[in-house]
Amino acid sequence: MDSIIKRVLRLIPVGVFAVDRSGKVILWNKALEEMTGIFEEEIIGKGDFEYSIPFYGYRRPMLVDYVLNPDIEHSESLIKRGDIYELETFLPNLYGGKGAWVLMCASNVVDESCDLIGAVQIINDITIRKIAEIELKKLNTVIEHSPVGVALLEFSGKIIYCNDSFLKYTGHKDLKGHNIFELFPQLSLYEIYNSYLKEIRYNNKIFRLRGIKLDHEDIHGYAIFLTDITEVRKYEEQRIISYKMESVNRLISTYAHEIKNILTGIRGFAQLALQSKDKETAASYLEKMLSMVDSLLKNVREILGVGRELGKNPEFIDLKSVLENIIIFLKTSLKDNIVLTATMPEDSIKIYADKTDIEKIITNLVLNAQDALPEGGQIKIELSLKPLPEKFKTLISDEESKKDYVCLSVLDNGVGMDEETKSKIFEPFFTTKGEKGTGLGLTTVYHIVQLLKGFIFVETEPNKGTRFDIYLPIR
Ligand code: ADP
Ligand code: MG
Repeated sequence: MDSIIKRVLRLIPVGVFAVDRSGKVILWNKALEEMTGIFEEEIIGKGDFEYSIPFYGYRRPMLVDYVLNPDIEHSESLIKRGDIYELETFLPNLYGGKGAWVLMCASNVVDESCDLIGAVQIINDITIRKIAEIELKKLNTVIEHSPVGVALLEFSGKIIYCNDSFLKYTGHKDLKGHNIFELFPQLSLYEIYNSYLKEIRYNNKIFRLRGIKLDHEDIHGYAIFLTDITEVRKYEEQRIISYKMESVNRLISTYAHEIKNILTGIRGFAQLALQSKDKETAASYLEKMLSMVDSLLKNVREILGVGRELGKNPEFIDLKSVLENIIIFLKTSLKDNIVLTATMPEDSIKIYADKTDIEKIITNLVLNAQDALPEGGQIKIELSLKPLPEKFKTLISDEESKKDYVCLSVLDNGVGMDEETKSKIFEPFFTTKGEKGTGLGLTTVYHIVQLLKGFIFVETEPNKGTRFDIYLPIR
């Protein structure tokens, strides 16, 4: 019987050793040999705390000693259950210096007549569990202290967990057991399910809310993330205001310069006219002054035009004839190395729009095309009746895609744009032209197209050219 127990103890995958009443080793099993690198035959019979050296690196009492002599003083945080001593600790000397987390327990051993014959100690390697625990603790700490509000929900919307930020943002002390829809009635399961990004106002703050569906082994439900974007929004608004100021300053300084030059010219000619001896010379100076006043007026009109409301005087207009007229004007004002051509359908095309707005679209697109052709090149205007391309139909409602559209295109074979530029061109005040640009041209175009319930599409490639397609509904 004794030898069977000894064999079992020798082979179980947990470290075990035992000492007799005098503290001499009487058992040292295989698992311990692996942990400590010390073999049974080297240690059996040794006393004087020799067995503690492979664990601690020096001689000292271990749990078996506390069992045998409960009076030994120690400073370890032992747990005592009945006559069993327990200790969880890290032992850096195990496994050849690699160290291991262990849970150790020890108890006394008595013979048939209940006399104490020794003590046994078990050393259980819990490193894997301990590391997992530490990792989990780290993760928990991160989630607990995250500035993002996190909540876990059951599929019904019942909250089963939420972190401090979530409580802070929603102004509650505890939310476990409540339903998410009590907090956010505007939220739909569909939105959470489909990981929608939604912006919501709550407690005078603005939040970005995102939900994801969790369907893993042990966890079924939703996770909700709340990010406070109130400050970000404020900053963005401020930036837009300062953008606007910058652009107004730029406009003012451009025109102020121009106007000052013209006024200086007018003053000069007025002086010359005053000093003129004969009427004819005076008249010639006055004529020059007149034409300068005209250009002054043009400048003032332009300044006023910038702030003009869009879509102010809508009426039924013939798109074709509006285009023809503006093209005649544009041809006289474009640079010599630019060739402007236009193709149009035979019949007139009626749309309901403000004529000046349509002129603005064309002028802006053609002038941008000219800027994209510093060495000269071709600009084409195409007007055609054609349905919306299939690929765009997915972007709009059924009702919109049933309407008839006219397509107005402006194409150039100029410098084109990279993806980043293309993504920003409709933003107010975005320009790549430095002092010379206002960044308002395409913003205006975009607004007019929106006003007319149309669509604008851009295709472009660096060094190949650019194509703007504007689809407007026909009445
Ligand atoms: P601005 O002309 O004052 O720069 P816009 O709003 O008209 O402002 O245009 C914004 C930007 O879009 C331009 O600065 C330019 O980088 C780009 N862009 C517009 N049209 C074209 C084009 N046809 N080819 C290349 N780039 C263009
Ligand atoms: Mg422009």
